[in-house]
Amino acid sequence: MPKSVYIETYGCQMNEYDSEILKGILAKTNNYSIIDTPDGADFILLNTCSVRDNAEVTIWNRLTQLKQYKKKKKNLQVGIIGCMAERMRDEIFEKSDLVKMVIGPDEYRRVPEILENSLAGEIGIAVRLSRVETYEDIEPLRTKGLSAWLAIMRGCNHFCTYCIVPYTRGRERSRSVQSILDEISKLQDSGFRELTLLGQNVNSYFDETQKIDFPNLLRKVAKQAPEMRIRYVTSHPLDMSDDLIYSMAEFDNICNYIHLPFQSGSNRILDLMNRGYTSEHYLGRIQKIKENLTDYALSSDIITGFPDETEQDHQDTIELMKAVQLDGAFMFKYSPRKGTKAYKLADNVPEDIKKRRLNEIITLQNSISKSRNQLEIGKSLEVLVEKPSKKKATEWMGKTKSNKVVIFDNLENQFKEGDLVHTKIIRSNSATLFGEIVK
Ligand code: SF4
Repeated sequence: MPKSVYIETYGCQMNEYDSEILKGILAKTNNYSIIDTPDGADFILLNTCSVRDNAEVTIWNRLTQLKQYKKKKKNLQVGIIGCMAERMRDEIFEKSDLVKMVIGPDEYRRVPEILENSLAGEIGIAVRLSRVETYEDIEPLRTKGLSAWLAIMRGCNHFCTYCIVPYTRGRERSRSVQSILDEISKLQDSGFRELTLLGQNVNSYFDETQKIDFPNLLRKVAKQAPEMRIRYVTSHPLDMSDDLIYSMAEFDNICNYIHLPFQSGSNRILDLMNRGYTSEHYLGRIQKIKENLTDYALSSDIITGFPDETEQDHQDTIELMKAVQLDGAFMFKYSPRKGTKAYKLADNVPEDIKKRRLNEIITLQNSISKSRNQLEIGKSLEVLVEKPSKKKATEWMGKTKSNKVVIFDNLENQFKEGDLVHTKIIRSNSATLFGEIVK
């Protein structure tokens, strides 16, 4: 009788993909069944994120909640996997008597053996980082649907001073082009309509054997899967080449949405962050995008309150936001991460100032998003139909190629998930477009 495993995933799309990889590894053994509730599970694994402190706080709270399942089932085994496992290792065992397994992102092949040994009372710890592991031979176990993720590379070599990723996910390594195209063939056979190529910095993807870089990988993918919308995330302004922008302009099915984090508008802070570019360089990349892509949308990550950030640095961020006109942004207060270079700097921007600056950039971004969305009014946009909207059963939502949410009437359910419809945008707010179906 197979033992049941419940995997709960926190954090980024890469973690979602890793959970699918792990399910693929477990399914291959025939000794484990994957279940989608913790009730009655033989094993509960939390796939964790370490990027910000509150992501880890969520996991500690969840571990407290999971004690109820252990009370009901004495032989339940609980494991922490992913970035937090890599970062905290021994600390996790010290802090929690529930956790018996700690497994980092490059050790998922060992999970079946570790699960088995845990039943015999063994503590499992596997946190070695690899220079070569890409899991390219593993078929992820995906839930059927519209959109699929596919990691084309793992790790990062940039070492931004605030970021824990190079320490939890290791150095950059890329999968072979062929393994990526083979996996996409299977996604095509399964009817997926949208594909997001994933990596900490996809721009630096490189197949050493075939000497194929990211723009040329993108061209191959777009050619092979013309029926699919192709997206990618995340980019780095230093590695965002002209050729990448040209490759996006060449293919209609490569979505014109670019997530290009700038983090700060101050060159002094960018230097302290070891980002390797200036705000002028970033603006140059945006200019190139504007010259070559139509109906594009841009988003960014922005950190406020980095050590030593002055009022002038904050104003520089505001000025860059105004100049770029992002469609959306993920904005955060700086959170020191033990193990990073920035951790050694004094976290000297007081909490109330961090909060105030964060509120200011959120307010500004909301107004920019609103005016960017107003520019869509009157346009006819292609929408990939997803599901009923949250507010009304007769209204459905879908996304444009530029990743904007569009709400439209679907009165007699004439449209279903996966259909492509054309909508004329009639109104908008900062987060959503509202459209009428164009016959
Ligand atoms: S580019 Fe910088 S922020 Fe992004 S994963 Fe690498 S080190 Fe972290």
